[in-house]
Amino acid sequence: MQRSDHTPSLSPNDQGLPPEFIERLQRILTPETFEEILQTFHATKETTFRVNPLKSDADSLKKELESLDLHPEAIHWLPGAFRVPDAERRALTESDAFYEGRLYIQNLSSMLAPLLLAPEPGERILDLAAAPGGKTLMMAGMMENRGWISAVEPVRERFYKLRANVDRAGASCVHTYLKDGRGVGRALPGSFDRVLLDAPCSSEAKFSTLHPRSYAFWSRRKIKESRKLQRRLILSAWESLKPGGRLLYSTCSFAPEENEEVVDFLLRKDPGARLLPIDLPVDNTMPGLLQWEKKSFAPSLSRSRRILPTREMDGFYLVLIEKEPNP
Ligand code: SAM
Repeated sequence: MQRSDHTPSLSPNDQGLPPEFIERLQRILTPETFEEILQTFHATKETTFRVNPLKSDADSLKKELESLDLHPEAIHWLPGAFRVPDAERRALTESDAFYEGRLYIQNLSSMLAPLLLAPEPGERILDLAAAPGGKTLMMAGMMENRGWISAVEPVRERFYKLRANVDRAGASCVHTYLKDGRGVGRALPGSFDRVLLDAPCSSEAKFSTLHPRSYAFWSRRKIKESRKLQRRLILSAWESLKPGGRLLYSTCSFAPEENEEVVDFLLRKDPGARLLPIDLPVDNTMPGLLQWEKKSFAPSLSRSRRILPTREMDGFYLVLIEKEPNP
């Protein structure tokens, strides 16, 4: 990763985004990718979705949607995932397949987290920050509804949205808890085969100049507050994991304070935590940073991956961590 100390070049469009956010982004990205990525904040995103294998299959769902004059196109690297043209988004959200839970609209970056965690039928899984449940449901599908997923969400409104989505998808292996994730590790130490922590964050990768409210409350302070919560959550997630188990930590933020720095914090607490290499089916990625401002991170942080945003994919951060097995 190269750093650039040049002042960011602001196009008239960029002026809506906080200048400090742009300046930080320029230091995080390489000079080759910066301008291109800046443009993604002004573009509409493509609509992507995946079939719910608990209620349908890719062929039947495709035919069902085509009978409504929709044109789903398969995503070649992820079986069961599709895109539709922008103009068809509304019709998709008004389809019976949508209302009856045969499909779930989800960004492709989000689908990578369950894909990497790879839960298996019969396992005990914890989803520590679960609402509205896109990743929980994808995991339930991968597990063929066999096993146990504890899905935790402390924000009441979001919890009910999660419950509704779980019911609609027929995901009977999912058990929902209106709880603060910070206490789960202490209550259930060493209990889960795999844990997903898709952490609450400053949501920088969801910023869009088409929706200025998306970044209206951005500040360095917000990043630091997120980091504080993320550190508590990652320790809780870690404690809840069985020896030999795997934790997938992800955020939709570009901020190193919320990504590499949180994982580095865990590695310092437990030197037995081991970052696993990540093999991704897309190439719009870069390795995790080893340095940010005055801080250096463990060399293994280069095994974490940053998904660079495109028209089709949101920016995302992913890391897979294994707990030492019992001797
Ligand atoms: N994984 C979800 C999905 O794929 O649909 C999205 C999760 S979102 C990035 C983070 C969630 O963490 C939010 O729903 C937020 O309300 C929740 N959250 C906030 N504070 C939390 C806490 N202390 N413990 C657990 N979850 C928390």
